[in-house]
Amino acid sequence: MSVSFSLSEQQEQLKHGARQFAEANLRDLADAVRAEPDPLRRAHLARPVFEKAVQAGFLKGLIPQPFGGIGGGGVDAAILIEEWAAHSPDFVISMAGPLIALAPVYEVGTPEQIQRFVAPFLADTGAPVAAMAYSEPGGSANFDAPAPAEGTRTTAVADGDHWVINGSKAWASHLPGWDGDGPDVMTVVCRTPGGVSLIVAEREQLAGHIETEHVYDLPGLAGCLTARINLVDVRVPRANLLGEEGQGVALTRNAFIGSGASIGIFAVAAMRQAFDIAYRFALSEKRGGPGPIIEHQAVSDALADAKGKIEAARLLAWRALDAALSQHPSALEWALHSKVFGSETGVEVITSLMRVVGVSAYDKDFPLLRHLNEALAYPVIEGGNIGVRRRQLHDLFRSTGFDPLAASGMA
Ligand SMILES: Cc1cc2nc3c(=O)[nH]c(=O)nc-3n(C[C@H](O)[C@H](O)[C@H](O)COP(=O)(O)OP(=O)(O)OC[C@H]3O[C@@H](n4cnc5c(N)ncnc54)[C@H](O)[C@@H]3O)c2cc1C
Repeated sequence: MSVSFSLSEQQEQLKHGARQFAEANLRDLADAVRAEPDPLRRAHLARPVFEKAVQAGFLKGLIPQPFGGIGGGGVDAAILIEEWAAHSPDFVISMAGPLIALAPVYEVGTPEQIQRFVAPFLADTGAPVAAMAYSEPGGSANFDAPAPAEGTRTTAVADGDHWVINGSKAWASHLPGWDGDGPDVMTVVCRTPGGVSLIVAEREQLAGHIETEHVYDLPGLAGCLTARINLVDVRVPRANLLGEEGQGVALTRNAFIGSGASIGIFAVAAMRQAFDIAYRFALSEKRGGPGPIIEHQAVSDALADAKGKIEAARLLAWRALDAALSQHPSALEWALHSKVFGSETGVEVITSLMRVVGVSAYDKDFPLLRHLNEALAYPVIEGGNIGVRRRQLHDLFRSTGFDPLAASGMA
């Protein structure tokens, strides 16, 4: 990103196109999702819109150009995510599986692996999905912990030309796929004799070998298909191992850099919607007093504090996504700040905006609480801030030669 804070003509077009798509499709989808009590049926409501998005080329936009897609830079990604997540962040999370699941394929995949695993996501029709199967029901923050800790519990055992994978996975979007027979591609974090490793399981190998134990009923991001599954004797060719055995810890951490950076912009999308609601309320509501409540300076102060934090989180997320997608040497640090600062600011800002509106905000039919429910997810998804993300910052700060000015380029 050259240091200009104005959107280019192309980015303006991207923003308008994304906004049009969101207003035409995602607003209604979000209403339908809110009205459907069953979590599985709720997740399936997204499928027709998903197919439209694929036809419109948005899925290919998630695949970087060197790998056959039409993906742009980090600020482009931020613009698209903000416009869509303002209406339906769960839809964006459902579609964005390839961003995480294919990241290790781009990093260490052989040309043959890249061709085979990326191909489903270059389609112009259908609703192909990918899952990064890292999280496990008993916890994932310590997935790299050596014995006697459990660490990663899912195992892959060599059997002739195949790996045989067994274990339980949880939370990742689309683990069961649309029909319970798995996503098109699942990148499985598992333990092989050589350590924590990544193995890609394709749909044809997963079909019939997934038991869906439970579909989570989330208070926000309610259209996400998040489930707990068992992988039972999934036989995968030996050629589906990514990189070397034992490389899985580093590859997994790297896979979550871009998604960590993006959480800041998800939080911005929720804050922007909440701000709009509270601001309009303050301009129009007198609450029995002589004038609109914005005439009280305390109300304006709360709005001003919120606005400043939204702008700060947006700029940070743009910078972080730009760093992640351009593989800047400080991409990890930027991503961690965007994840931690963005997600925690989201909860803080929306809570304070609820105080501006007052008790009306605590009504489920008033459109503010839903954004808090979304924001509450962001500190705990994509690696929880306590168990995963702040620990990564801790490691970074203790690493030899860490220069606090390097990320900004001011060293
Ligand atoms: C909508 C949604 C989408 C998701 N998408 C994915 C996905 O695509 N792929 C995927 O694999 N997962 C996904 N997840 C799960 C998510 O990424 C979690 O952040 C991840 O499972 C880690 O959880 P955790 O940080 O709570 O760790 P846990 O292991 O569950 O730890 C729980 C708590 O224990 C404490 N703790 C544990 N160990 C330590 C430690 N060493 N130091 C300090 N504190 C510690 C912390 O307080 C931590 O919060 C998703 C979840 C949701 C809700």
